Amino acid sequence: MKTVDNFNFKSKKALIRVDFNVPLDGDLNVTDASRITAAKPTIIKVLEDGGSAILMSHLGRPDGKASDALSLKNICTKVSEIIGVNVKFATDCVGDAANEAVKNLKSGEVLLLENLRFHNEEEAGDKGFAEKLASLGDIYVNDAFGTAHRAHASTTIVAEFFPENKCFGYLLAKEIVAIDKVMKTGEKPVTAILGGSKVSSKITIIENILDKVDHLIIGGGMTYTFIKAQGGNVGDSICEDDKQELALSILKQAKEKGVQIHLPVDVLAANDFNNNAETKIVPVTDIPNGWQGLDAGPQTLENFKKVILMSKTILWNGPIGVFEMPTFAKGTIAIGNYIDEATKNGAFSLVGGGDSVAAVKQFGFEDKVSYVSTGGGAMLESLEGKILPGIAAIL
Ligand code: AMP
Repeated sequence: MKTVDNFNFKSKKALIRVDFNVPLDGDLNVTDASRITAAKPTIIKVLEDGGSAILMSHLGRPDGKASDALSLKNICTKVSEIIGVNVKFATDCVGDAANEAVKNLKSGEVLLLENLRFHNEEEAGDKGFAEKLASLGDIYVNDAFGTAHRAHASTTIVAEFFPENKCFGYLLAKEIVAIDKVMKTGEKPVTAILGGSKVSSKITIIENILDKVDHLIIGGGMTYTFIKAQGGNVGDSICEDDKQELALSILKQAKEKGVQIHLPVDVLAANDFNNNAETKIVPVTDIPNGWQGLDAGPQTLENFKKVILMSKTILWNGPIGVFEMPTFAKGTIAIGNYIDEATKNGAFSLVGGGDSVAAVKQFGFEDKVSYVSTGGGAMLESLEGKILPGIAAIL
């Protein structure tokens, strides 16, 4: 795997695809700069070698139309502040504005190009557009995991124009290593904890990871489809009736593959989907009509804790309850605490995909797990076993 460490950037222009798709408030101030901070080590490596960095990114969904609100100019000051050099700005990512700005760029300098998605050709993966981008730099660096699952011009197609001179940035390389640690090289026992709302949205992940894990903990809204399929009464809990066959087939496949599946045995049920609803602990197979399971129960958490604490590699995707409401967040917080403890005891823990990162950040577990993925959709597709086009283009 080629990274920026395989190159000396002295007097070279590095064309770096970063993910600066950051949230802005009404006054166009950056409200969470973590994506910019995450790209810093790669940029610094290029500058310290004596090279210059041309940064390209998208921001929001402009759908091919330029607008002030989605201009990357809005974040230029923030990027300068974080990188520690005065970042220059090109008012377009291709054409005269970009070419001129690149021509004037000196070693040690950083240039931020305008929003790639102001051009429809970006998302279309247009080859001509990719060639124009490619003409700006000597070495192509992809450091944007968040868009690595898209075959866009700047994430994938552009790499064709750098047959030898292309590599991963530190951030993207870290993501690849973290995923491999779970899916390929992880120390056993390997445990996946899958939560979230629906079986249907996680089915490809489940099928793929059954070949990689020793234990699969299933929690959250997915639980009830499995329980009902086995004859339990799930009351008014979220349940996909048309996925019951699938749930049984997953249980069968797991058995054949020697994977132990751990499902909840008790739940915190509520008489309404509401933080102030009446609640009670009931067996997962005996939820009264008019009640719905919204979080894991105490015995379930005890069982899950034992599995997590004896695991050496842990993957966590999806909340175990409706964590957005404090009454039903306790199970998700408990799982975070068990993973924290396992990690302190030497396990490798990876959290990522969809809502898991939001839950981890909300409850302050970010620094307690080994790695939190920066890409929601890209992470989910990696767990499904797909080779992401942005990664394949470099390999
Ligand atoms: P996903 O995007 O599939 O990871 O699902 C995340 C969502 O699942 C969160 O918004 C949770 O509130 C929701 N969720 C977790 N457990 C349950 C449950 N028991 N009933 C309904 N929704 C749930």
